[in-house]
Amino acid sequence: MKDKKNNSVLKCDFCNEMINGLPFTCNYCGKTLCSKHRLPEAHDCTGEPKRPPRVLNPWGKYDSDNKN
Ligand SMILES: [Zn+2]
Ligand SMILES: [Zn+2]
Repeated sequence: MKDKKNNSVLKCDFCNEMINGLPFTCNYCGKTLCSKHRLPEAHDCTGEPKRPPRVLNPWGKYDSDNKN
């Protein structure tokens, strides 16, 4: 049998290129990605997209207009 030297070779799941340095793991889909495709929008993430959280009013309710 031939020795394969692909024990510790990590490839980007998106572009399938070897990752130089630290690989990135997507928190949403769990894929191993290079620095170029580490963002969810860069690798067509199938997990939850990163969206800014909604700002909740301290009162809990939101009235469109306060008419006095
Ligand atoms: Zn990549
Ligand atoms: Zn992802």
